[in-house]
Amino acid sequence: MSHPGATASDRHKVVIIGSGFGGLNAAQKLKHTDVDIKLIARTTHHLFQPLLYQVATGIISEGEIAPPTRLILRKQENAQVLLGDVTHVDLENKTVTSELLGHDYKTPYDTLILAAGAGQSYFGNDHFAEFAPGMKSIDDALELRGRILGAFEQAERSSDPVRRAKLLTFVVVGAGPTGVEMAGQIQELADQTLKGSFRHIDPTEAHVILLDAAPAVLPPMGKKLGLKAQERLEKMGVEVQLNAMVTDVDRNGITVKDPDGTIRRIEAACKVWSAGVQASPLGRDLAAQSDTEIDRAGRVKVNPDLSIPGHPDVFVIGDMAFVDGVPGMAQGAIQGAKYVSKIIDNEAKARQHGTIPKPREPFKYFDKGSMATVSKYNAVAQVGKLEFGGFIAWLAWLGLHLIYLVGFKTKVATLMSWAVTFLSRQRGQLTITEQQAYARTRIEQLEDIAASVRETEKAAS
Ligand SMILES: Cc1cc2nc3c(=O)[nH]c(=O)nc-3n(C[C@H](O)[C@H](O)[C@H](O)COP(=O)(O)OP(=O)(O)OC[C@H]3O[C@@H](n4cnc5c(N)ncnc54)[C@H](O)[C@@H]3O)c2cc1C
Repeated sequence: MSHPGATASDRHKVVIIGSGFGGLNAAQKLKHTDVDIKLIARTTHHLFQPLLYQVATGIISEGEIAPPTRLILRKQENAQVLLGDVTHVDLENKTVTSELLGHDYKTPYDTLILAAGAGQSYFGNDHFAEFAPGMKSIDDALELRGRILGAFEQAERSSDPVRRAKLLTFVVVGAGPTGVEMAGQIQELADQTLKGSFRHIDPTEAHVILLDAAPAVLPPMGKKLGLKAQERLEKMGVEVQLNAMVTDVDRNGITVKDPDGTIRRIEAACKVWSAGVQASPLGRDLAAQSDTEIDRAGRVKVNPDLSIPGHPDVFVIGDMAFVDGVPGMAQGAIQGAKYVSKIIDNEAKARQHGTIPKPREPFKYFDKGSMATVSKYNAVAQVGKLEFGGFIAWLAWLGLHLIYLVGFKTKVATLMSWAVTFLSRQRGQLTITEQQAYARTRIEQLEDIAASVRETEKAAS
């Protein structure tokens, strides 16, 4: 039993995996709880994913949406931030194994919160990733920025009209909020920011296509808002193709199957994938050791108190968890984190006073609505039964994102960047480096070379 004077080593140990909305909020909510927290994440920052598309299209810098977790928690003495890729959770021995640069570290826990989120899903076609990066990390966003701006640069040097058309065609796969935001911003980048800055090509001739296998834009937001967003995109010049199933992606474009079975090609150098998510593989790790089940997207089917079957001390929150009626959105992770921290706090207090903790009430999600920006000064929003679009929705979007960005400095810096873009046609973050544009391809080539060397050595021995 822990007591107020407990030393760090004998205090109740809470390990949190992930520094996203779920992980960070859980750590912060436990600030005044008599527990020792170790937050392990594979990046050193807390990432505000909803604004990744603005990094990719040069509106804001990566630092504005990815403050270092260590600095956010600097004054929280009961929390330690550890960099590492968690590779295994041992439910029986209550340890978490994480890897950092070839070293494995074991961290014991009394209570574990898994908030490792979700990655991009290519629905079993992982080879698409090389040609159509997703948008899940800062690396993804910077690589996409390199690919988008790089395509314009190559087009300026090309004298072949067919190649030029391919370079100036941008395909965004997935018409959810990220796809809508991305397509709108590529179009605005071409029409407003880049206009007049090339001599051989006219960037306003860029052809932006937003494509989805579903019959509507923004399906979770309902028909009315979906149509509103679609109309606005089309007015801007974005071509929206619905009921279009991507069957292949390669360096030069994508292959699409229409509902009547027609197979067609879209030649496009730059493709963006925003079509599906797959929860962290750590869910499978839990399922392999317990009665925990996972759904098709790899999400963990949790108990009403967000713990896993047979392990009341292991919680799964945010995008990693499947809870009926809770969407894979920031609010789901934030509210889950709040709820779980309250349980941990109650139980810590009960241990401290030698009393029986209050029984756990089931997790209840409060739907605060959702919104997506379509273009400068235009967004769609849904709050309860209220659905609205246009400038008011855009202002609401602006205000809410500012509130949820972590840290005063990031808020000010983002506001300044927005002023540059929204009050003029400029963007302050259009720098691309060779590493951003080519690093992933080069790394993959090196991995291929290393694999073939290993094969040759194996065959020779
Ligand atoms: C491009 C984009 C736009 C979005 N827009 C919106 C929006 O407008 N509104 C909205 O509400 N939601 C939006 N979302 C969804 C929202 O960002 C997620 O629902 C939310 O981030 C989920 O929080 P989480 O804590 O579960 O996971 P995340 O925030 O993804 O955090 C996961 C954390 O786990 C870490 N991690 C993962 N695997 C490991 C491992 N093996 N070892 C160690 N650490 C690991 C990651 O590094 C990260 O720190 C968007 C998402 C994306 C990708």
